[in-house]
Amino acid sequence: MYLSHSIFPKIFVCEMTITNKTDPLILIFKILIGLSLSSAAYGQIQYDPSEEIEFFKTENANNIRLLNFFSDPRANNIDIYYTRFDLALDPDTLFVKGNINTSFLSKTNIDTLYFDLDGSMTVDSVIYHNASVIFIQPVNNSFWIIPSQQILTGTKDSVVIYYQGVPTGDGFGGFQKGIHNSTQKSLFNLSEPYSSRNWWPCKQSLTDKIDSIDIVIHHPEIYKAASNGLLISEISNAGYTTTHWKHNYPIAPYLIGVAVANYNVYEDTVHFISGDSLIILNYVFPESIDTAKKYSKELLPVLKFYSETFGDYPFMKEKYGHAQWTLKGGMEHQTMSFVGSMNYSLITHELAHQWFGDKVTCGTWRDIWLNEGFATYCTGLCFEKFYPSQFQNWKENTLSSIKDAMPQTIWVWDTSWSVRIFDYKLTYAKGAYLLNMLRWKLGDEDFFAGIKSYQSDIDLAYNFAQVPDLIEHFENQSGQDLNEFFNQWYYGGGYPSYHLQWKQNNNNSVSVYVEQETSIPESIQFFSMPIPIQFIGDGYDTIVRFENDFNGQLFSIDLPFKVDSISFDPDLNLISFANTVVRVPGFNDASLSLFPNPSSSDLNLFYSVDFIPLSISIVDEAGRELFSSEIKADRYSGKYPIHANSISAGIYFIKVKSEWSERTLKWVKAN
Ligand SMILES: [Zn+2]
Repeated sequence: MYLSHSIFPKIFVCEMTITNKTDPLILIFKILIGLSLSSAAYGQIQYDPSEEIEFFKTENANNIRLLNFFSDPRANNIDIYYTRFDLALDPDTLFVKGNINTSFLSKTNIDTLYFDLDGSMTVDSVIYHNASVIFIQPVNNSFWIIPSQQILTGTKDSVVIYYQGVPTGDGFGGFQKGIHNSTQKSLFNLSEPYSSRNWWPCKQSLTDKIDSIDIVIHHPEIYKAASNGLLISEISNAGYTTTHWKHNYPIAPYLIGVAVANYNVYEDTVHFISGDSLIILNYVFPESIDTAKKYSKELLPVLKFYSETFGDYPFMKEKYGHAQWTLKGGMEHQTMSFVGSMNYSLITHELAHQWFGDKVTCGTWRDIWLNEGFATYCTGLCFEKFYPSQFQNWKENTLSSIKDAMPQTIWVWDTSWSVRIFDYKLTYAKGAYLLNMLRWKLGDEDFFAGIKSYQSDIDLAYNFAQVPDLIEHFENQSGQDLNEFFNQWYYGGGYPSYHLQWKQNNNNSVSVYVEQETSIPESIQFFSMPIPIQFIGDGYDTIVRFENDFNGQLFSIDLPFKVDSISFDPDLNLISFANTVVRVPGFNDASLSLFPNPSSSDLNLFYSVDFIPLSISIVDEAGRELFSSEIKADRYSGKYPIHANSISAGIYFIKVKSEWSERTLKWVKAN
């Protein structure tokens, strides 16, 4: 397998601080000198963008706009701390039958309990304090229980709902049957975002994690059942097996997963430096077992890498695992991701969700970026760490998705539409790249420390978070105000295109004039970002970071070599497209030049601080003066616009006077 080398040889890195003669904005400067190539990493994995697109399709499967997706806010009169599932499931049918036992703490005096449950499910009875009580399904998706007595505030209580039915409804519904290996049947759920209620009576909103669950599944003996947490028992009797899973960490309802199929089961083990170890438990279709065993091992170093980078694996007392389903993509059910295959992008993505989505869960679907932006970026981080030559491919392909994204914000304004919540180009690709840019802006140390601090926040861990919570951690860590950054990149739409004009002055000083246009100016007119510019020449290769704070900004820098070319953002740190770099003609004259020249309409007079223009005149070939004016050139902008639309084609001379001298530049006006 071929993995390409990086373009520029880099064997020696030194850092120095440079002062800027016109603008004190240059920070750190790296000189990369060298001629020999260091060898790139070679391995089994090559980045394949189609893998990411495939799982986007799956996560995007609930693709209809819902009219009634809100949970009843009155359901927040209880705090659910325990749920026991006792369900009979058979891949031959989609039929669900059993009971859900819900234990809760009342937060007010309660006369009615409110649950979410799809109308296709039939409730047989509700048992409260060992007796049947009244229940109603007032509108589709709602289910109310009237306890036999008022439940007083602060009471620990429980209720058991017996029900059955064939789940139907939005998108896939909560449950789906799948066929693999031509004839083999399987059954699994996909509840995110609004389909938990399609298969069990729950509190579906993102406000209440259940502290622990038991999942007991009765199924035909030829199958195995996979789920969250630890496998407690598998007991077979008369052709049926009862499989019992127990999960002892807080869990959002949509992260509960149940899959039944003729699985083969195998384990991988991760050994940590601390001496701890963790089982990765894989439930795989028999026909996939050899491939799965080969590729699932790729996840062992990744799990260690994530643990070191974001904090310990969140469910260390239990396990991580995969259960195969017949969809191509994946779903990050807590401690047991469902995956179509063990492809690298998919399994690194779903594992990352155990931190981003499962341990810390988005508090509203508007904030889905907290789940998907991070998980998508984590796959990029895995390529960077383990297959570094693939990282640039990952970046290029992610950027190409962003370019075609809907002209909207990463922030989800319409959560009734799953297509928008799980839009690959915005939520995933642009979401991931927002993190790449934030990392570039903050530097690795503050960026990763900020994430670690967010992950360990006791108010957020094993709970819900919203985007301002995350911003606060990055701000506290870095000391930077990130309001503008998030207003532009998260709450704003579009992207910038950078247009650079540069010239080398006589004394190795280089001037770069940076202009920017944005794709959706009505949303964001200017993106304020540090920008990387690479200077190449005389065997040197230098990337300099400039703080680009306003449009039409001139940067000057003294370099210890003569520059032959420059390029904008060669490492793809930023989201930007259709950038241009133009070397300004007339660079031999250190202080004065025209660009463009020839020009068909307007042009710019460029100058440096040693020649600030005070007046300008335009003279034709016959010596006739067409125009003359005193001007007020801003000594810091380095540029004066000349509006020349009305001048006919021909050769002209532009005379420019400064306080000390006068110069004449030849200008060709084109048609
Ligand atoms: Zn995801």
